[in-house]
Amino acid sequence: MISDLFINITILTSFTFMWHQLFRNNRLTPNSPLKIKLLDGLIGGILGITLMHYSIQVNEITILDLRHIAVILLAYFGGIIPSLIAAAIISVGRFFIDVNFSSFVSLFMMFTMAIGAGLIAKYLKQEGLIKWTVLLIYTQTIFTLALYVVVDNFSLVIDVAIYHILSSIIGGYLTFYFVTYIRRYTQLYLKYKENSQRDPLTELYNVRSFDYFYNLMLDSVKQEGGNCAVCLVDVDHFKKVNDTYGHTAGDQVLRQLAKLLGKLMREGDIVSRNGGEEFSILLEDCNLTQAEEIANRIRKAVEQYHFVLPDKQKIKLTVSIGVAAFNFESSDDNLYESADDALYKAKRTGRNNVCS
Ligand code: GH3
Ligand code: MG
Ligand code: MG
Repeated sequence: MISDLFINITILTSFTFMWHQLFRNNRLTPNSPLKIKLLDGLIGGILGITLMHYSIQVNEITILDLRHIAVILLAYFGGIIPSLIAAAIISVGRFFIDVNFSSFVSLFMMFTMAIGAGLIAKYLKQEGLIKWTVLLIYTQTIFTLALYVVVDNFSLVIDVAIYHILSSIIGGYLTFYFVTYIRRYTQLYLKYKENSQRDPLTELYNVRSFDYFYNLMLDSVKQEGGNCAVCLVDVDHFKKVNDTYGHTAGDQVLRQLAKLLGKLMREGDIVSRNGGEEFSILLEDCNLTQAEEIANRIRKAVEQYHFVLPDKQKIKLTVSIGVAAFNFESSDDNLYESADDALYKAKRTGRNNVCS
């Protein structure tokens, strides 16, 4: 019996780990799209069937296992829909093992578990271990009642029933610990990954991401041909905004400018905040003339835009833009330096200007 418990726990942990790896970017939550809920329900159902194949044979028609843990995992994290899907799949799987009184009781048991667990997950205010304990007690009670219904003399199988309850407690809590642990650490990993790529003020790419995409773009043109361009955008006299309206107002202006740049660009163009009030745009498949057109479009759009300050006052700003392009035949791959020189020229020649 101990080896059965060991096998069940091993299945639960290895299976949930693979399950989690598959869906790490689409974690099941009560607000997940229906497609994810159906898919998770399907996988939970397969987990339940797998667990059923490593069950304890109580008598010639009755088996006991940890299939209810698959159902409450789904109810806990995704609500009633995935838990119902899993219950349906597990019930079908039970009929494939054999069709008898016990499998009909199992059908009824699985749906009672799935509906009840879904409702508990939705309406019980307490979260975490308390909710999990309630779910475990609820499903274990139903399992034990079902066992009572299918055996002629319950007192003869009391040792198996107690063993099953102990297995559920050990398997249930270990699974809960394991699943919450990997979910929490994946969430943190994704958050830190995002933070390392994005600028927190504007949510644009930061300078580290800019470097990465810049080198990627140049390598691709060198290897596969074509062309690319970079625009460096710097706000004119931004220091005055801070000095006149305060740093918070300056921050708000930078966020609005970032949004405006994002709106003006094509899908696939990489907009970054390279630092302070300097932004960059990486343009794939773009020659110098096209890049100059894009830069002028940006310059005009900023010139016409009314930036709203925290006190609702509206102000106008201008930007200077340096543009440089690179193509396959070009021997000079100091694209960034060329754009920076062009930006310097745009500043020197009066600002609100595009130079290349
Ligand atoms: P120029 O036309 O020559 O570019 O003048 P400028 O004032 O825009 O340029 P300068 O480099 O002299 O000043 C940039 C200012 O940008 C100084 C700094 O206080 C401000 N700045 C840099 N980062 C931030 C930020 O994150 N938030 C705010 N509010 N201001 C910032
Ligand atoms: Mg500036
Ligand atoms: Mg600057």
